Amino acid sequence: MSIPDLYQLSDLFSTDQIARRSRLRWFIDDQVLHHANRWFQEGHFPLEQAQALADYNVFGATLKGYDCPGMSYIDYGLMMQEIERGDSGLRSFASVQSALAMYPIHAFGSEEQKEKWLPKMAKGELIGCFSLTEPDHGSDPGGLTTVAVEDGDSFIINGKKRWCTSATIADVCILFAKLNDRIQGFLIEKGTPGFNPVEITNKFSLRISVSAEISLEDCRIPKANILTDAKGLKSALSCLNQARYSIAWGVIGAAFDCFEEALKYAKQRIQFEKPIASFQLVQKQFADMWTEIVSAQLLALRLGELMDEGKADPAAISMAKRNNVRMAMEVARQCRDILGAVGILDDYHVMRHLTNLESVFTYEGTDHIHTLILGEKLTGLRAFG
Ligand SMILES: Cc1cc2nc3c(=O)[nH]c(=O)nc-3n(C[C@H](O)[C@H](O)[C@H](O)COP(=O)(O)OP(=O)(O)OC[C@H]3O[C@@H](n4cnc5c(N)ncnc54)[C@H](O)[C@@H]3O)c2cc1C
Repeated sequence: MSIPDLYQLSDLFSTDQIARRSRLRWFIDDQVLHHANRWFQEGHFPLEQAQALADYNVFGATLKGYDCPGMSYIDYGLMMQEIERGDSGLRSFASVQSALAMYPIHAFGSEEQKEKWLPKMAKGELIGCFSLTEPDHGSDPGGLTTVAVEDGDSFIINGKKRWCTSATIADVCILFAKLNDRIQGFLIEKGTPGFNPVEITNKFSLRISVSAEISLEDCRIPKANILTDAKGLKSALSCLNQARYSIAWGVIGAAFDCFEEALKYAKQRIQFEKPIASFQLVQKQFADMWTEIVSAQLLALRLGELMDEGKADPAAISMAKRNNVRMAMEVARQCRDILGAVGILDDYHVMRHLTNLESVFTYEGTDHIHTLILGEKLTGLRAFG
């Protein structure tokens, strides 16, 4: 029995959107979910499957021109939801490619940079990453200490970066450094001497995703590789808002996969001579979870409409990221509980989603930081920075 669409959300999507979602759902079921727990245990990033997402117009989905799909934010959100139903790490790759690498090139790059990078990135032939965080500057990126200095027709960059998703496999890195004491975005191409990404391998979370630290030692890049209009922290934050939007949708997919798995299990698992799904306390868990999943979908949907109209307040994006990640974590925890002891095994997906969501809770602005953004919006008083 499929889960009833109580709020008839399918009526809010076009036939095209539903068809596209079904195609991607099939791909995630067939090419990702069957292998995801093994990849997770091995810490393997499935590059081939990740690049195949281009066939579904995932990369740079909302961008116009330069062979990008030019779709709506709702289209994009629906795709993020399907991908994260597979794995948050795979969705992270897709978010970084679209929101954190292609978006800044599209928004802040020169015509030559857009022509050079965007068409091939949309096809998944070239991969991008985004490097803002440093070992000593996570929630306060404004304090970053990586420095770029002008030297003839080049910039020379020195510093240390951390937690850069996809850095060791990327063809281009959007990297933020201080130029004359002001934050500035640069493009660093793979193989540039002095640009040294090293994979972080000892993670318990997002193991189907490449994370890296980067040391920059007299890394010389041509002046043409400055992202001229990516000036100040505001430009970096505008990219993060795009990525936060994709998280608000994506985590619904992770919650949905946990919910489906737990529901199926609860109907089959017999205790006290009855399926555990027949017990009132377990039904309460399902009722609470489904209410929260549907509420998160409604929040994401309205946010998508506002994004399409160019009217989304950054605080509204923070609210959706914070609420929906909290929702997904709570759903994953409850589902793990319903599965009992087997819930910790890799025979099921729940534990993988749960540990992945710990990273999603922290990256693209921690839960606290989004709380403070909302707090500032509501009170007019800034409690941080
Ligand atoms: C798997 C993964 C992938 C990532 N990918 C990328 C990437 O591609 N590019 C990139 O640039 N970064 C990336 N990040 C980095 C991520 O954005 C940072 O981890 C995040 O911003 C938090 O920084 P931090 O880890 O240094 O924690 P900290 O900033 O040290 O925070 C630690 C704790 O202190 C709290 N805290 C900090 N300041 C305040 C305050 N003012 N008030 C209240 N509480 C506060 C935080 O909420 C948190 O609970 C990634 C991180 C992970 C885990």
